[in-house]
Amino acid sequence: MFSTRTRRVQTIPRAAKPEKRHNEVMSSTFSLQLSHVLRTVLNAANLSTVLGLLLAVAGRSHLRGGGNGLVLAEHYLLPLPQRGAFTVGNVVLFPGGTLDELQQRYPEVLTHEAAHAWQYAACLGLPFLPLYALASGWSWLRTGDPASANVFERAANLTRGGYVEHPRTNAGFAQAAAALGLRRTNRG
Ligand SMILES: [Zn+2]
Repeated sequence: MFSTRTRRVQTIPRAAKPEKRHNEVMSSTFSLQLSHVLRTVLNAANLSTVLGLLLAVAGRSHLRGGGNGLVLAEHYLLPLPQRGAFTVGNVVLFPGGTLDELQQRYPEVLTHEAAHAWQYAACLGLPFLPLYALASGWSWLRTGDPASANVFERAANLTRGGYVEHPRTNAGFAQAAAALGLRRTNRG
């Protein structure tokens, strides 16, 4: 079956190939748009986008469309979280700044945040938040940094998000042990 099909593809006249390629591009673009519609619908239904919009309004953000069903909430004014951008559902919030400003330092930051929007959809919405908190805690224990070993940040691409990867030294475990007085000593 497979080899027959391969041979058939090879017999397509050269003149037909650009059209075929065009059709492939068109169909992949269409399925891409469909996937963005799906993400938008899922994050609206699971209420994560609603929470994102409430936060955006509470932070007196300026709202605008970001393409692919994303909403950009720029000049977000609440004091937390202290980072360049964060995503809740399909809403990408920019504390104290704009996407354009952040993109000057991290050109692919919107691709990174869009991956988080997918993660909300995959986690059925709000369960993403406690799962993300757990992943941040684990990352801190392993590396002393909440992002470096965080499965969600790694999946969204650390570099695109502007993170510097810290080595897995168990720095957080050591700090926690020291705080609990469990640090091993050589004395009796
Ligand atoms: Zn991120």
